[in-house]
Amino acid sequence: MPSKLSEELSPFYVMDVLEKAKEIEARGESVIHFEVGEPDFDTPGVISTEAVKSIEQGDTKYTLSLGIPELREAVTRDYKSKYDVDIDPETIVITMGSSPALYLSIISLIEPGEEVIITDPHYACYPQIIKIAGGIPKTFRIYENEGFQINIDRLKEAITPKTRAILINSPANPTGVVLEPEVMKEIADLGIYIISDEIYHGLVYEGQAKTIFEITDKAFAVNGFSKFYSMTGWRLGYLIAPPEFIRPIQKLQQNLFISPNAFVQKAGIKALESAQSDAQSMAEMFNERRKVMIEGIKELGFRIHTEPKGAFYLFVDANRINPNSHELAFDILEKAHVAVTPGIDFGEGGEGYLRFSYATSVTDIKEGIARLGTYIKDKGITL
Ligand code: PMP
Repeated sequence: MPSKLSEELSPFYVMDVLEKAKEIEARGESVIHFEVGEPDFDTPGVISTEAVKSIEQGDTKYTLSLGIPELREAVTRDYKSKYDVDIDPETIVITMGSSPALYLSIISLIEPGEEVIITDPHYACYPQIIKIAGGIPKTFRIYENEGFQINIDRLKEAITPKTRAILINSPANPTGVVLEPEVMKEIADLGIYIISDEIYHGLVYEGQAKTIFEITDKAFAVNGFSKFYSMTGWRLGYLIAPPEFIRPIQKLQQNLFISPNAFVQKAGIKALESAQSDAQSMAEMFNERRKVMIEGIKELGFRIHTEPKGAFYLFVDANRINPNSHELAFDILEKAHVAVTPGIDFGEGGEGYLRFSYATSVTDIKEGIARLGTYIKDKGITL
């Protein structure tokens, strides 16, 4: 019999949406994809070429468990040039995507039964990863009418003697919100360990996202190459941790994963050193798409309280069509052939909302909006 833990983990409902969309596509009908959480661009050629060269040169063995020193040093230079912070390369652990980095940070920090505070809504995997690490996810609400910013008083109410860390994400999935620096400072002042998921850094269209290390050293930063460099399938990320955690994390990495991929790390160095302008161009295209998506959603009659400034998502209140987001997402998929992610995937606080990803072409965004317009009209709803 499968373990209670594995049985009780929540599914990622968007995968059900994706499967249903595939079924419709298999019938030869088109589906517009607003559900996907990954860039549609190819990985920049200079990165791929480096990976091929690296394989041909024989970089096909295990590496040092913490990752190759050249990549750890390149991450240090990247944080210096982007944020003007000094990160000791010895405190950087290269991982296979940012997901293992999240897991390693939490499992190295908490005792069984301790709590990690997260917002609600939140990235769907957070509560699951915390539970897998033996912890308890403790949520507090963020609200659209507060721009989905963290309200420090509400966060404080979630703190208990069992609180071990606060996990923040800016720019955020699913809201696209960039945390105000003052809010980050208020959180840091609580003196609790912060785990800062910085995976959407670089995809910020107004203002700038701060790394947690500009604010406090009592923190872990989780980052990776999936989003900014369009490298989701490469599985490359990293964790920056306080020095006293590095040896324990190294032992976890050795036992769980042995080492990150050799040639993918070489490609990662190339990404940091030679693909900034490629990545920047992709970010500019995301910004164009963001504007088209926001405009289109507003024209449909939806209200957007605060326009998202980062990532590639729009989190939209759809309560007036149907407060059951799962039911609504499937109805839209079946009737309008537009795939969206139900807000409930991101916690109770996301119920009634839909997440629209604009990691797709402007043509598809316009077509998807037109289809949604027909869907709403056919329902006879005025938003
Ligand atoms: N954090 C957030 C907020 C995400 O949205 C994702 C991917 N959807 C991840 C972490 C994991 O990314 P990866 O493992 O590909 O680096």
